[in-house]
Amino acid sequence: MYMNIPNSEKIYIYEREKKKCFYCGKNLKFRQITLDHYLPKSKGGTEDIFNLVLSCRKCNRLKGNKIPRNYERKIIKLFQKAFYDKMIKIGNIIVSKEDLKEEILNIDRIEEIRPNFVFQSKHMRFYIKNNTIERIILLGGKHED
Ligand SMILES: [Zn+2]
Repeated sequence: MYMNIPNSEKIYIYEREKKKCFYCGKNLKFRQITLDHYLPKSKGGTEDIFNLVLSCRKCNRLKGNKIPRNYERKIIKLFQKAFYDKMIKIGNIIVSKEDLKEEILNIDRIEEIRPNFVFQSKHMRFYIKNNTIERIILLGGKHED
């Protein structure tokens, strides 16, 4: 197909969406699925698992390059879920697991989309590439003194 998504990720998304088309709710057999870029590729959407939803062929075709309303909230939610499901790898970063968990729950915006997603909470900015938190920037305001 057109995407190079590992099978383990496809299965994860399939289970995450309870085997139903995200758009119309139709039950899908695994061989029937397509993965839709929730934020379309042409608008900067990546192939990270939190930007892919399960879709039947028809809905995928109908959605085309439309940008869903509230895509930001949805993508943040899917990222948080993927993190808790241990589907997000953690690069070489110097933040404790506890702080990381807390801050990921507090992500409230997408700071950048291109070339990769950058999420932001009050205290941290998360640079994501290939389902990996590659870099974190600490923002002002968090002093542990
Ligand atoms: Zn559908």
